[in-house]
Amino acid sequence: MIPQSKSGSWESWHDPQDPPRIGVSQCLQGELVRHDGGHTRDTFVVDVLAPFVAFTSVCPEVAVGMGVPRPTIRIVKQGDAEHLVAPSTGKDWTAEMKQYGEDQARSYREAGLDGFLFKKGSPSCGLFRIKIYNGAEKGASVDRRNAKGLFASTVLDALPDLAAEEEGRMNDPAIREDFVERIFAISRLRRLLAAGPSRHDLVLFHTAHKQMLFTRHEQKSRDLGAYLGQPGDHAHEDFVAGYAAAFRSIFTHRSSVGRHVNVLHHAMGHIKNMLDGEQKQVLLSRIEDYRAGQQPRSIALTLISFLAQTHKVEYLLGQLYFDPCPRELLPGDRLQRKWLERSTDEDDDD
Ligand code: SF4
Repeated sequence: MIPQSKSGSWESWHDPQDPPRIGVSQCLQGELVRHDGGHTRDTFVVDVLAPFVAFTSVCPEVAVGMGVPRPTIRIVKQGDAEHLVAPSTGKDWTAEMKQYGEDQARSYREAGLDGFLFKKGSPSCGLFRIKIYNGAEKGASVDRRNAKGLFASTVLDALPDLAAEEEGRMNDPAIREDFVERIFAISRLRRLLAAGPSRHDLVLFHTAHKQMLFTRHEQKSRDLGAYLGQPGDHAHEDFVAGYAAAFRSIFTHRSSVGRHVNVLHHAMGHIKNMLDGEQKQVLLSRIEDYRAGQQPRSIALTLISFLAQTHKVEYLLGQLYFDPCPRELLPGDRLQRKWLERSTDEDDDD
């Protein structure tokens, strides 16, 4: 799966027959599985993400036998333990849901799932801010601790490196970008591992992801580069497994503006000898504008990418940082639109 020619385009690493494998809460696909017989069809899931990934959908509440329609459930604190309970019937679903989550996590591991989009707010599927009640009775007080739904927490306890997000958070541009870049990187790793990579393959793979990795965790990325350079007396399979675990672990860290700025400066270092003083200044200003939140990162990225192509800078042309995933999946950038509108106005004045 290593591209024949050096390319930093996601498409050259992509296999449309084996796209990212993503789990999804079934109601987000428009399936009538909610407790009231309805759904919560999500546009990003169905219209935007679906063409680029292979979904594995699940409704854990239906799967454990709650049926549709069904009594509502909630997480109730009993002593130190938390239980998944249907207050209207008193039925405790904790054991069934935990068992189902563990079984699913095993099958997700075997199937090589790359990520999961959970439904927000659900006592089964939610990832953040799920309410914990201090009793099953009506009017019981709520503990607003940051808890997960029971299915989501069971799956993630078993698969802590799984790229997991909630559909509601896809409206946040930074979180969405982080998630889609991550699932594409992890799916590339999965396909690399399936192909039985040589050490040379690992080096090529790592090199193409180098700048992406640096935006996640600089020291761990340096350590992983050093690991690749010194295989020691590991058996090859262990060496590959060690690389894969470290790569996944780096992608559990979120990127940040500061780290992107460092990476942009580093990229600029590869072309600065080919630029005159004015060009350098323009590029530095674009990076500084991004740091200050006055322009989107895509302006500096596009500029560096253009210069890399013009001057045929192989290292930069091979970096997936510049084109990590389909653009359709990235958030509409309001700041970018504003900037473009402003520059169009300025052109008109001229
Ligand atoms: S949130 Fe989860 S459990 Fe609830 S209806 Fe959707 S898929 Fe089923």
